[in-house]
Amino acid sequence: MSSRTSDVLVIGGGIIGLVTAWRAAQRGLATTVVDPGPGGGAARVAAGMLAAVTELHYGEETLLALNLESARRYPDFAAELTELTGHGLGYRRCGTLAVALDADDRAHLRELHALQQRSGLESEWLSGRECRRLEPMLAPGVRGGLRVDGDHQIDPRRLATALVTACERAGVVFHRSWAERLDVARDRATGVTTADGTALGAAQVVLAGGSLSGRLAGVPDDVLPPVRPVKGQVLRLTVPRRYAPFLSRTVRAMVRGSHVYLVPRENGELVVGATSEELGWDTTVTAGGVYELLRDAHELVPGITELPLTETLAGLRPGSPDNAPLLGPSGLDGLLLATGHYRNGVLLTPVTGDVMAELLVGGELPEQARPFTPKRFGAALMEQPA
Ligand SMILES: Cc1cc2nc3c(=O)[nH]c(=O)nc-3n(C[C@H](O)[C@H](O)[C@H](O)COP(=O)(O)OP(=O)(O)OC[C@H]3O[C@@H](n4cnc5c(N)ncnc54)[C@H](O)[C@@H]3O)c2cc1C
Repeated sequence: MSSRTSDVLVIGGGIIGLVTAWRAAQRGLATTVVDPGPGGGAARVAAGMLAAVTELHYGEETLLALNLESARRYPDFAAELTELTGHGLGYRRCGTLAVALDADDRAHLRELHALQQRSGLESEWLSGRECRRLEPMLAPGVRGGLRVDGDHQIDPRRLATALVTACERAGVVFHRSWAERLDVARDRATGVTTADGTALGAAQVVLAGGSLSGRLAGVPDDVLPPVRPVKGQVLRLTVPRRYAPFLSRTVRAMVRGSHVYLVPRENGELVVGATSEELGWDTTVTAGGVYELLRDAHELVPGITELPLTETLAGLRPGSPDNAPLLGPSGLDGLLLATGHYRNGVLLTPVTGDVMAELLVGGELPEQARPFTPKRFGAALMEQPA
């Protein structure tokens, strides 16, 4: 068995592990990432909406503060990453239009608008006609909508690729293998043993394994994060040049109770998503999933049936019991968590990198991240999903 040590070992090279490693290395820590395919994970599937305002849900006001803080950091974060790596990220400050097609959906959207106003957020109610003036491809049946100019988008695949490059440039070492088990000595995490038989030692270990975070062998039961996989199916279509601009901003709606969104990228890609399914580790793309997304998207924007369908994919969101991430020390010395980002991981990437680096360097979780300590779940940590 070979061995190597570093200051920080990050388990998982999805966008959360990568941003943590990049920021830690920038602060002078010798950092290793263990992952068989860094830059993969849920970001290969995700739509990349940066939607603090339109993703607001009842009971998630604490999460809202973190989401807004990350959205605020996005312009500088994206500019820094692009300057360092030369990679464009498809960051578009295009805004979002959330629309309603029937009376029930309209009532739901009105409630969301009221909640947004109570939370001091900027959004404007528009009539159906005003919505169609902004987005002429919308169905004539649209009965009203919310214009949210502050909700933007990024291309998560380009973000992941840029983060790998940024890590390499900052001196992060990639160990391309699975972490098979956490190594613990005298009640302290000391590193991992990998599937290829390497012992990777570190002063601090960060578990950023996405939906797999609750499954790592060797982590004591009362420390394993209560993270579960939530499946999402997504379609990618292409807007031929002759149809451009098909949509000029993200359009989303609740159609008979299920959410659908269309995210138009600069490069002509149109992402349509997403299902939300509690089906364990299954990532099958199903006829039913594709049918429902196309049916709902077609009701919203009938012209999409003309577009080439270029890709269908399913991925797993790392869900947590309160839909908010777990950031900070676990109950085991030397083991920190950065996981459970659920449906906002792309949005939360900048703030996660910053708060995790601060914790790794200074030993303190910054103020804005304290509500997200893994310790908030207490006994719930013991109740792992099967
Ligand atoms: C359909 C869908 C749509 C989404 N849309 C949006 C959106 O519009 N906006 C938004 O903000 N977010 C969105 N998300 C959520 C976002 O993609 C996730 O929250 C985010 O990508 C999670 O990143 P992560 O790094 O924590 O986990 P992951 O991306 O799951 O990465 C975890 C990594 O850890 C590795 N790993 C796990 N266990 C081990 C181990 N034992 N050893 C070594 N490596 C390991 C895996 O190989 C993987 O590469 C969406 C997600 C999905 C699925």
